[in-house]
Amino acid sequence: ASSGIVVSFGEMLIDFVPTVAGVSLAEAPGFLKAPGGAPANVAIAVARLGGHCAFVGKLGDDEFGRMLVAILRENGVDYSGVTLDSGARTALAFVTLRADGEREFMFYRNPSADMLLTEAELNLDLIRKAAVFHYGSISLITEPCRSAHLKAMEVAKQAGALLSYDPNLRLPLWPSAREAREKILSIWDQADIIKVSDVELEFLTGEDSVEDEVAMKLWRPNLTLLLVTLGEKGCKYYTKDFHGSVESFFVKQVDTTGAGDAFVGALLGKIIEDRSALQDEEKLKELLRFANACGAITTTKKGAIPALPNLAEVLQLIE
Ligand code: ADP
Repeated sequence: ASSGIVVSFGEMLIDFVPTVAGVSLAEAPGFLKAPGGAPANVAIAVARLGGHCAFVGKLGDDEFGRMLVAILRENGVDYSGVTLDSGARTALAFVTLRADGEREFMFYRNPSADMLLTEAELNLDLIRKAAVFHYGSISLITEPCRSAHLKAMEVAKQAGALLSYDPNLRLPLWPSAREAREKILSIWDQADIIKVSDVELEFLTGEDSVEDEVAMKLWRPNLTLLLVTLGEKGCKYYTKDFHGSVESFFVKQVDTTGAGDAFVGALLGKIIEDRSALQDEEKLKELLRFANACGAITTTKKGAIPALPNLAEVLQLIE
């Protein structure tokens, strides 16, 4: 864990976004190809801010997979943990931007390459270098990637990594809401750091409030840091010794895609620099101000990866 890298595990895909908002997929005059997938967004967020990061996952050895590898490379993300498989197809998502600005997703996962990652394909030497190992929950849905995911977590933990979990609920991908809740919570106890959105907090607890009592239902004795993001209102933090909230920055929101991933990337990049922020409330608040700024900037531009900020942009907003 001494080399201090963030290793992010899971899906990477291409979002096809109609060039015109408020039309159905069939009526779209054309599509923009936007690279995405929450764990990949997090990896690129870390790298764009100057941190060391690797992405672990599986892509089809097709036009789309090669495009995604190029994006990781151009952004300075270590892709030695990416398996390219000529027998598999890269995951695709078709995103409709409704006239009210909300997004609707349709996925090509039949199965897609990310779901076919096996334990044997894991680059364990890379995973053992993680100071922080980050993952979502989409890779828990089906085998074989479920076993690969659990194995990677175990190897990272044994090598001394902090485990970081953002369940990143994409309900339409799950067979049922019940299964989503059960499988997401089944690996809750292993994590050191968990970030949920306000929507996920309500979904996982079955409550319709984000009060501290509700967040505490997601607290576990082994947890070091629990974060709840609140969109434009910033975030709340909980540790065993202290809790509170940190406001975000005022920005002109255009598209919220990737804001949560930017927030997580900023947080993890800072934690590999200085783990003591997890025990020191003043340091943690400073760090979360930084993470909020990264999330805020990401909402000012379209898409996820193109909108992720560099360090200069964040410092300009903060100072
Ligand atoms: P997710 O993308 O997971 O739904 P949020 O929308 O809560 O996550 O955004 C993550 C973080 O990004 C927030 O905690 C906040 O710091 C920042 N953020 C998101 N939307 C805005 C906004 N409109 N103005 C300022 N900050 C924002």
